[in-house]
Amino acid sequence: LPEYAFIGRSNVGKSSLINMLTSRKSLAKTSGRPGKTQLINHFIINKEWYLVDLPGYGYARVSKSTKKVFQKFITKYFEQREQLICAFVLVDIRHKPQPIDLEFMQYLGERGIPFCIIFTKADKLKPNAIDNHVDDYRHIMLETWEEMPKHFITSSSKSIGKEEVLEFIDELNSGMVENA
Ligand code: GDP
Repeated sequence: LPEYAFIGRSNVGKSSLINMLTSRKSLAKTSGRPGKTQLINHFIINKEWYLVDLPGYGYARVSKSTKKVFQKFITKYFEQREQLICAFVLVDIRHKPQPIDLEFMQYLGERGIPFCIIFTKADKLKPNAIDNHVDDYRHIMLETWEEMPKHFITSSSKSIGKEEVLEFIDELNSGMVENA
């Protein structure tokens, strides 16, 4: 089955977004290695696709060795990624573009991995501030990329952007649109 990976800095709102996307969906959580701490969770959605919940990067409060373990899991996933259709990189809409996120997108780009940006916590900003922050992002992205990647404005607390993301995934699954 096709896979879609969700990743971002810790605290970006990934768990909340995944809850929003998966609520009232026919969902089964699959566990890879019983007994071990699950760093990577796979959720099967409507028996059609896997939502892959990757560990957050850039934890401020964990040791260097823990960071390394997380990084290893993340790189290992992206090296194997046979069924991965698109990665969704989550960024907090309130923050200026952060080097760690930009570097991560660079990493995906260098490996030819399609990705989209999901802006989270849009309820925290007024609409014109949202536009300004997206423009800041576009400006920085265009220094390296030919175009601004496909992006979504979401808020898990106000349930914004859910249908857009799910419809995009359905379209990719049905082959209606070219990859991101
Ligand atoms: P994760 O560490 O990336 O999985 O982030 P969480 O989903 O646990 O969210 C981190 C914090 O941000 C929590 O306090 C959430 O309540 C808050 N949060 C997450 N999504 C939203 C959102 O859309 N709007 C607002 N206002 N807060 C959010």
